[in-house]
Amino acid sequence: MEGLKLITAIKSKTIINVGEAAIGGDEIAIMAGPCAVESREQLFTTAFALKELGVKILRGGAYKPRTSPYSFSGLGEAGLELLQEVSRATGMAIITEVMDPNEVGVVAEYADILQIGSRNMQNFPLLQAVGKLNKPVVLKRGLAATIAEWLFAAEYILAGGNGQVILCERGIRTFETYTRNTVDLSAVPIVKSLTNLPVIVDPSHATGLKELVAPVSKGAVAMGADGLLIEVHSQPEEALCDGEQSLTPAEFAKLKAELSPICLAVGRKL
Ligand code: PEP
Ligand code: MN
Repeated sequence: MEGLKLITAIKSKTIINVGEAAIGGDEIAIMAGPCAVESREQLFTTAFALKELGVKILRGGAYKPRTSPYSFSGLGEAGLELLQEVSRATGMAIITEVMDPNEVGVVAEYADILQIGSRNMQNFPLLQAVGKLNKPVVLKRGLAATIAEWLFAAEYILAGGNGQVILCERGIRTFETYTRNTVDLSAVPIVKSLTNLPVIVDPSHATGLKELVAPVSKGAVAMGADGLLIEVHSQPEEALCDGEQSLTPAEFAKLKAELSPICLAVGRKL
């Protein structure tokens, strides 16, 4: 990246305000919720449990990028409507994925933060489309993207005029197969030293295993992450997507309690 005059490299700190949260500020931003919006009941039960636990940003996919075309691929606009309804009922802000440049308009009507998934990190028309918005975007690191490629992808959004980019490390593909991906926590301080953007970590997709979500979350905060994106489902065993890496609300509550002293130790709040 050396020598390149990138907007991504401007060093003044970016704090992104969404609902009651300030991402990149003193407080660690927690975005939690199910992988996919499956039904009204599933979404509301999970959201209200998380609201009780102090979560300010709810995640949930309405458009799901699935490896197999035969897997559940989300409820589409009906899912967005449920997200809006639950947001009104709880006061939580919403983050949800957008996969298609033609759907950016509709997703932006419902979402407070748009997510660009790992598989779309280099979907340049999609990056350009969200670059025209005045809304925060979480840009996940590609499955096999270098840090430089990831930052150039962020640059596409910034160059379009949208400075509200949040970078999300979600594990990369390596020879290791025990975990779903290999989490690159060293990317957190590297990217924070190279950019002004908030950096969050997704321990759920990074590991694929619920028992690793807490240790990776703790490591991420200790290494300077500004937030965490965590999959939580009211009944993970019934989940239509990513149940094996989803925490129950009770497991999430335990993680939050364990995270608190680590946040304090690195001068952050939870
Ligand atoms: C997700 O957050 O639901 C998701 C599909 O993540 P990723 O793009 O990191 O695989
Ligand atoms: Mn998922």
